[in-house]
Amino acid sequence: MSKQSEGQKKEEALSYRRRNYFETAGAEEREKMFEYAEGYKAFLDAGKTEREACDAAVRLAQEKGFKPYRMGDPLKKGDKRYFVNRGKSVVVFRVGTRDLEEDGIRLIASHIDAPRVDIKQNPLYEDGNMCFLKTHYYGGIKKYQWTAIPLSLHGAVILADGRKVEIRVGDEPSDPVFYINDLLPHLGRDQMSQTGDKIVEGEQLNVLVGGLPYADEEVKDKVKLTVLSILNEKYGMTEEDFISAELSAVPAFPARDVGFDRALIGAYGHDDRVCAYPALTAVLDNETEHTVLAALVDKEEIGSEGTTGMKCQVYEDLIEEISLAFGASVRKVRAASKCLSSDVTACFDPNFANVYDKRNAAMLSCGTCMNKFTGARGKSGSNDASAEFVGEVRRMFAQEGVVWQTAELGKVDAGGGGTVAMFISKLNIDTVDLGVPVISMHAPYELISKADLYSTYLAFRAFMK
Ligand code: MN
Ligand code: MN
Repeated sequence: MSKQSEGQKKEEALSYRRRNYFETAGAEEREKMFEYAEGYKAFLDAGKTEREACDAAVRLAQEKGFKPYRMGDPLKKGDKRYFVNRGKSVVVFRVGTRDLEEDGIRLIASHIDAPRVDIKQNPLYEDGNMCFLKTHYYGGIKKYQWTAIPLSLHGAVILADGRKVEIRVGDEPSDPVFYINDLLPHLGRDQMSQTGDKIVEGEQLNVLVGGLPYADEEVKDKVKLTVLSILNEKYGMTEEDFISAELSAVPAFPARDVGFDRALIGAYGHDDRVCAYPALTAVLDNETEHTVLAALVDKEEIGSEGTTGMKCQVYEDLIEEISLAFGASVRKVRAASKCLSSDVTACFDPNFANVYDKRNAAMLSCGTCMNKFTGARGKSGSNDASAEFVGEVRRMFAQEGVVWQTAELGKVDAGGGGTVAMFISKLNIDTVDLGVPVISMHAPYELISKADLYSTYLAFRAFMK
């Protein structure tokens, strides 16, 4: 072992240095990271929409002995419950032994919706011997990224008689997939001179769903009729039923390990299932004295609106119901509660280094990442957690040896973004953002590190301890 000089010792004691979690973890811990990633990949493949992710979370909760909760149900200490909101968001919680008014609730909030291409309400048409579905994209996408890749169709249709049918086609190897056409480069001279948002426009994101003409000379739109016949045969649908349907085209690829060493995971919808899964499993797997709650919510990608988004009163109601069940003042419970708003952050990418301040950017594999603030321009639209709360969370992580880092989204004025943090902090709950760094965020196939995934799980566990 080489001897450290006095200056080196001082430097080590006084300087802040981030460390690669793969490097600091022993062989045993590395094995745990890889093992944990297997469960996560299965969760991703099971849930490509908020409805499916909600169902997948409920199945995991049931396996761990969690029971359904309805507003007003009596509760007792030690209860393990899950609350489903309209099939699109789910809250799992454990009632701890500590006093609710003094100790509050430890909350983790993440989202299970992801950017995608939604099918319009009157979508079906035929042109050029092909049948298409018109779409309206959901969330912030680079539209040109969604052409010429295999897509699967997911969602639910409410038929005229009120029955609900679930559709999921394109994920099984034996399934057909769907497709959005792109222009050949040979004829792409005009297209390639457009700005990025115009290379492929919203009304060009039409999903190809058929090409076989119906065998009847008298019919005008023969390919469309073939598709309608199949939809009717398989799902009992007519064209009018699209009006009361929520169908989405999402990438058909499964989650896969990336790299010779399998250090990374490529998948659709890491944002934000890569935080939702650790939040869920942290609550399901760990008994604690605190009352703990993980909310997996919908609609974050379009502003957290609606009955299933974080702005909905239902989450506040739930905190109130839990408080009332123990005769506690909801105001006191909220004031004593703490929250990790758990969403992904931008990972430093050497291919696009100019948009990052490297000192304040999340580095791949350096652990889960805290964003004291998000927002745009002068921190506009940000929760901006207090130094006191950041200090408290920091001590929790230090105590449990969590490898983590801090960052902001990118260079000042390079852009910006928000999370659900501000909707929770307005309830008088101390909240800070924490989540997994993602490469190619909002692309059809995003990238994360297994070390950062596992570190996020350990961070949640430390927060709940
Ligand atoms: Mn997100
Ligand atoms: Mn997002």
